[in-house]
Amino acid sequence: MQTIDETDATNLIKQAAAITFLTGAGISTASGVPDYRSLSGVYLGIERPEYLLSHTCMVEEPEKFYSFVQTLYHPKAEPNSIHLKMAELENIKDIWIISQNIDGLHAKAKTQQLVNFHGNLYDCYCRKCGQSVSADTYLTSDRHEQCGGQIRPNIVLYEEGLDEQAIAVSVEAIAKADLIVIVGTSFQVHPFCDLIHYAKATATILVINQTPIHLNRDAYFLKEDAMKVFKNRVTEER
Ligand SMILES: [Zn+2]
Repeated sequence: MQTIDETDATNLIKQAAAITFLTGAGISTASGVPDYRSLSGVYLGIERPEYLLSHTCMVEEPEKFYSFVQTLYHPKAEPNSIHLKMAELENIKDIWIISQNIDGLHAKAKTQQLVNFHGNLYDCYCRKCGQSVSADTYLTSDRHEQCGGQIRPNIVLYEEGLDEQAIAVSVEAIAKADLIVIVGTSFQVHPFCDLIHYAKATATILVINQTPIHLNRDAYFLKEDAMKVFKNRVTEER
C-alpha cells in the first residue's frame, strides 16, 4: 500500500462521484461502542464471544446467550462525525455504505444506501411467531409476551449464513464504485473482506486505519484516526 497524507486522502474523497465505504468497529469507538472482539478470552471466564454469539448458544443456553448479547447494546450511543459525514455525502454523491457493525449507528445517522452486512442489534424478532419486537422490549426480556417464544436480534450469529440479499447488494455497490474507502477495520473477517475482489480494475482504493491491512491489490493508505479526517473537510466542495 502506498502511504498518503490527509490532504491527498481528502481530495480522493472530494473528487470521486461514486464512493462505497466499507466500515468496521473502529468508526464506532468514538461513539462509545467497544469492539466485542476485544473482549475475546476475558469475557465470562473461559468462554469466548465466538461461542456466546453462536446459534448453538442461543438455542442450548438461551440465558447465557441473552446475558452476553445484552452487553453489546448501547442504546444511548449516538452517531459520530464519521457516520454523519458519510450520510451527508449522500446529498452530493452516489454513496453506498457496507458495514460490519451491528450497532445501528449508520441507520441512526440516516444513511439511505446501507447494507448492515452482519445485521443490526436494534432490529429484533420472535423466533417462534416471527413478529418484530423493539430492542427496548428485548432488553427487558428475551421472552415474547404474546407467544412465549424466544426473541433474538437480527444479527448474523456464528454458524449462521449471511443474508443473500445483503451479499448481492454489496457486490453491486462495490462493482460500481470509483472509490472504495475502507475505514476502521482490520479487514480480516471473511467474507466481508472478500468483497474487495468485486471492485472495478479502475477503482481507487483508500484505506483509513491506524494499522495497515492486507490487500491483494494496490491501495492508498492513510494512517490516521478516521474521526480527524471526517470531522472537517470531506463534504466541502472540491
Ligand atoms: Zn412470538
